[in-house]
Amino acid sequence: MNRQSTISQLREEPEEQRRRQLIEVTIDSLAEVGFVGSTLAQIASRAGVSAGLVAHYFDDKDGLLEAAFRTLARRIAQQSRVRRALTATPRGRIQAVIDANLAPEEFDKRTGTAWLAFWGQVLHVPALRRVQAAYQRRMLSNLRHALRRLLPADEAARLAAMIAAMIDGVWLRAALSGWQEADSESARALLTAFVDGRLKGASPAGAAAELAPARPATSFVTVNPATGERLAELAVDGPAQVDAAVARAEEAQRGWAALTGAERGRILRRAAELLRARNGELAQLETRDTGKPIQETQVVDVLSGADCFEYYAGIAASLTGDHVDLGPQAFGYTRREPLGVVAGIGAWNYPLQIACWKSAPALACGNAMIFKPAELTPLTAPKLMEVLTEAGLPPGVFQVVQGFADTGRLLTRHPRIRKISLTGEVGTGKAVMADAAATLKHVTLELGGKSPLIVFEDANLDNAVSGAMLGNFYSAGEVCSNGTRVFVQRRIKAAFLERLTRRIGALRVGDPLDPATQIGALISEGHLQKVLAYIARGKAEGARLAAGGQRLVGGDLARGCFVSPTVFDECRDEMTIVREEIFGPVMTVLEFTDEAEVIARANATDFGLAAGVFTTDLSRAHRVIARLEAGTCWINHYNVTPIELPFGGVKMSGLGRENGHAAIEHYTQLKSVYVALGDVDAPY
Ligand code: NDP
Repeated sequence: MNRQSTISQLREEPEEQRRRQLIEVTIDSLAEVGFVGSTLAQIASRAGVSAGLVAHYFDDKDGLLEAAFRTLARRIAQQSRVRRALTATPRGRIQAVIDANLAPEEFDKRTGTAWLAFWGQVLHVPALRRVQAAYQRRMLSNLRHALRRLLPADEAARLAAMIAAMIDGVWLRAALSGWQEADSESARALLTAFVDGRLKGASPAGAAAELAPARPATSFVTVNPATGERLAELAVDGPAQVDAAVARAEEAQRGWAALTGAERGRILRRAAELLRARNGELAQLETRDTGKPIQETQVVDVLSGADCFEYYAGIAASLTGDHVDLGPQAFGYTRREPLGVVAGIGAWNYPLQIACWKSAPALACGNAMIFKPAELTPLTAPKLMEVLTEAGLPPGVFQVVQGFADTGRLLTRHPRIRKISLTGEVGTGKAVMADAAATLKHVTLELGGKSPLIVFEDANLDNAVSGAMLGNFYSAGEVCSNGTRVFVQRRIKAAFLERLTRRIGALRVGDPLDPATQIGALISEGHLQKVLAYIARGKAEGARLAAGGQRLVGGDLARGCFVSPTVFDECRDEMTIVREEIFGPVMTVLEFTDEAEVIARANATDFGLAAGVFTTDLSRAHRVIARLEAGTCWINHYNVTPIELPFGGVKMSGLGRENGHAAIEHYTQLKSVYVALGDVDAPY
């Protein structure tokens, strides 16, 4: 801005302010004394200025009223524009128009009464008629534009006119009832239900878009934690969107469950192929959203999801019940039936993988799933929806809703959702289970851990070091099952530490998109600070820092959330860093002398997600594993999670299992059927 324009702006500002003030006073006056009572003199006296000054700005009463009416109409237009910009779907844009017009501020008594005063005059005052016509044209054109993506042009025009008429009608009835008959929320809900009902038969081309989350009540931004780059702004889904998603899911689920298992399996298998075909693109997106190295996302995140779809595609066709022989007069059988509409809520560390691990078994069993990703990593779940749609999944069978814990809670508390599968922290697991209790939902909880990794003195040391590194530094340590308490038998501890620190020294921390990078960024600045606080606590409590321990800020790393791979030696069981889940690249090394001692210490935690044992003595390996209180265990490896093997925790680390045949139990319910072959033997 040059100096001249600064000066002219300064000159104009008070004029603009005065105009705005007079318009606000006019709206007050219309609300209080109506159109006839609002004279120029009366408005001037309310504003504490002369009538001449008002005339100077607006000429006469009509000019003033026209300006006030324009202000109100412009505000709605601007609200509509902002809301439409925040949504990526045609359905979302329709909702944006509805929400802007029926927003709480338009249901405010003062604003509403002023609108009513104007509406009463538009037939008599041409200037007001023009404002009204422009406002109507804009609303209709926005609606038509969005609807044309979903319907043929003539139907779009008809429905746009209906929606506009309903918006005006709902508003007018509320105004005439003195704002008793409806509030903003119920008015919007009415319009939402109307539009959803009308769009049910929308063309297949529009269907996928129609299913996407609708209305942005508020929004959130997701950033690349390695660079701070803003990746996208997304709308938060509220009660209306969750209700609408449940209604769509209910309807879609009936048709989906009526397919044969083989038919469902065929679609899921196609989804697996599409995921593999899009691996590069999806891995890139996941890396940018999570900060994890591309060398990981390219070989794990997407492909593990594809494996999962392939696995459950096979299982879908082989779901059966049992036949039960009850003697010559009867037999029984069981039917394995889907639960209905189920929901998945994901953590931010493996967003796409978690979405796949939850949806593949759910869909294989004939359920419909509504999935909410963590708000820090919302980008790949909608891509999964795209993939499933392309694979032929009927609209509504898999949907994504976005938002924070509030949106999650809407799912957890929804009376028509039959199951929640959560991946998250222990505290969230408790909250979800408490909420689910009110409607007696099934729950699967994949929660946190502080897992032991035990290295006996006869272990292959290089393998043990590899396992410990995989179990602490993969995904920058943001893995639930990490073996963060590394118990090393006394005689080999020095050698173990020497090899470990040497290999850590060679790790490459840096740009996650660089294929050579091994350690990327942590998920957020807030999480980084939490991890650094644990590191400080470790030092303060007397652990010896053997490697790392700092935030990395050299060069481009300063823009992101990087911390060096960290090892604490000389740890004691009671230290905070040994007891609490850090969820960052922080390994604690503890020394032990014998088997019984290490088992007792390994089990001395409320968590029970995972455990690992490195030893070449196979008898000992199985003996120790049998006594460890953990749901998922490894012998001579760490953190490998093939889809075929159930995954989950015991104690505070969770309930239920994902993957393997076990997940089928959690996404179906048994129906027992008794079949009589003879007469009914009744004592009556
Ligand atoms: P959180 O528990 O903070 O969040 C998990 C999900 O639950 C998010 O989508 C979150 O929404 C949502 N949520 C939060 N509160 C509620 C609520 N009251 N009702 C319904 N939904 C809610 O976990 P993080 O995302 O921070 O993930 C890290 C945690 O996940 C760690 O403890 C880790 O160990 C665990 N984890 C467990 C795994 C396992 O399989 N056992 C695997 C991976 C991680 P939002 O984020 O938008 O607030």
